[in-house]
Amino acid sequence: MINPKHEILNSKQYRMKDLLSCWDELAVRVKRAKHILLLIDYDGSLTPIVEKPELANLSPQVKECLQELAGNPHITLGIISGRAMEDLRERVGINGIIYAGNHGLEIKGPDITYINPAAKKAEPVLHSLCQNIEENIGDIKGAIIEDKGLTLSLHYRLVDEAQMRELNRIFCEATKPLATSGRIKVGKGKKVYEVKPPVDWDKGKAIALIAQNLKGEEQPLMIFLGDDVTDYDGFHFVNDSGGISIYVGEGSTESVAQYSLYSPKETYQFLDMLRETLKPRTGN
Ligand SMILES: [Mg+2]
Repeated sequence: MINPKHEILNSKQYRMKDLLSCWDELAVRVKRAKHILLLIDYDGSLTPIVEKPELANLSPQVKECLQELAGNPHITLGIISGRAMEDLRERVGINGIIYAGNHGLEIKGPDITYINPAAKKAEPVLHSLCQNIEENIGDIKGAIIEDKGLTLSLHYRLVDEAQMRELNRIFCEATKPLATSGRIKVGKGKKVYEVKPPVDWDKGKAIALIAQNLKGEEQPLMIFLGDDVTDYDGFHFVNDSGGISIYVGEGSTESVAQYSLYSPKETYQFLDMLRETLKPRTGN
């Protein structure tokens, strides 16, 4: 069921509401929920987009807030990202929560351990593709290739415009035969090419699996925050499940998400309000 208070532009799009200015209406839903499944993307949602992916660190303030939310018995917290799961786990560093890496192809949490079997099978193809690209981009300054196991990323945020043509040529030459024969899928994020195994899986399906595996929690209120195109599948699933979808970032006021936050700084403000609102009351 979709919240009727949101202006629906077509079957998939909303005119987003600024979350911080209508927190009160959200707070009511949050307080009413028996349990909350809070899932957050990492880069661009919890941390600002940075020049190099290794520089995206969680601030101590945000970590402390997440830790408190994770300790609340009414909340199940998960971080869901395009990063490899281990990388994500090290960066966030909170025990006892759910980590979903590689866009949800691998998930680990207190009640769930999942690796997409078809993706696991395709790992060697991705790995040799990664080596192939790496050998050829040596002369392109600023290109960063990341072998993330089940997927790979080619970041070009730091590549000079003049060298983009050459980078695109190398990337297309390496990926085209594999994509044509159905052994990989190619997509794009913010200044990054993403190569994935040819499996029918996305963040929406990962969220569905996480929700199914919640022990003893009937119909939790799902809240999902994301900033990039790979998060849209998550927004769709959460919308269809009566949850709350939140887009983080500047730009369009129309999206598949119901609410918007301007930046990761505002994500922190939202998380802080959530923590205060759901703080277990002691005494009377
Ligand atoms: Mg992101």
